[in-house]
Amino acid sequence: MPGDSWHAWIVNEELARIGVGGVPASLMVHGIGLPPILNWGTEAMQAEIAPPILRGEKWISLGISEPGGGSDVANLSTTAVRDGDHYIVTGSKTYITGGMRANWVSTAVRTGEAGAKGVSMLLIPTDAEGFSRTPLDRKMGWWASDTATLYFDQVRVPVSNLIGRENEGFRVIMTNFNNERMGMAAAMEAFGRVCLEESVAWATERSTFGKRLADHQVIRHKIAQMKQKLNATQAYIRLCYESIEAGTPNPGDIALLESASERGNGVLRA
Ligand SMILES: Cc1cc2nc3c(=O)[nH]c(=O)nc-3n(C[C@H](O)[C@H](O)[C@H](O)COP(=O)(O)OP(=O)(O)OC[C@H]3O[C@@H](n4cnc5c(N)ncnc54)[C@H](O)[C@@H]3O)c2cc1C
Repeated sequence: MPGDSWHAWIVNEELARIGVGGVPASLMVHGIGLPPILNWGTEAMQAEIAPPILRGEKWISLGISEPGGGSDVANLSTTAVRDGDHYIVTGSKTYITGGMRANWVSTAVRTGEAGAKGVSMLLIPTDAEGFSRTPLDRKMGWWASDTATLYFDQVRVPVSNLIGRENEGFRVIMTNFNNERMGMAAAMEAFGRVCLEESVAWATERSTFGKRLADHQVIRHKIAQMKQKLNATQAYIRLCYESIEAGTPNPGDIALLESASERGNGVLRA
């Protein structure tokens, strides 16, 4: 039975309960790298790529962000210039989760005019000549997840590796972001709930000024606020998943949800 959004939510929540972001990022990176292939790739591509990845034998990453910037996807500068039945790819990507071990990278490249209408998605095998990578070391967190900078030095990629149509990659990327944002929101809400549980446990264990922290009114108030904000985020997640399952996702709401969840559901400031 194929999974649906509710299964994805459960997986994200349960993995977040370990309280370490790098582990789910490392284990689930195919959740952002593979959907472009499943939703927009050719049947031949899907048959070759999906089975070994889903069996856990091979790895795929998503390569959108560049050293020059990540938010402004429409202005990415890695180029793929047509040369017969190949593209010649030149440029680099950074902050790529799972990038050091990936066998393939679903990569955003510029094939056309400036802006969103000149962007395509290309499946690039990491054993291609001209491809190299270096790890991002000295990270503040997510140590369990490798994060890489990728370099493309005139890498020849067959035109048949195009994911979707040429110059229509921006839509592929933005559609893919919906899924990623929901996963991030679900995980962040669950991480927030881990913080809540830890806070309650500490407040009942620790005593100051002759009584448990939990018996000081200001602490009780803070804990109540944490739960209130988490519940509101959880309800918003449910609303967005319901719209996805109904076939009417609202990308604006999904982006707002992720942004709200990123700010710690307000929990850390409660
Ligand atoms: C742990 C980690 C894993 C990652 N994994 C991947 C991955 O697997 N694949 C991938 O492609 N990328 C990945 N990224 C990159 C991530 O998507 C980018 O960091 C993100 O898109 C932001 O890009 P940037 O870091 O270049 O910041 P910039 O785009 O330079 O933005 C800098 C700051 O300016 C703000 N800003 C930007 N534009 C505006 C605006 N118009 N208005 C107001 N404020 C603005 C941003 O919010 C940010 O605070 C990862 C990043 C991290 C930290």
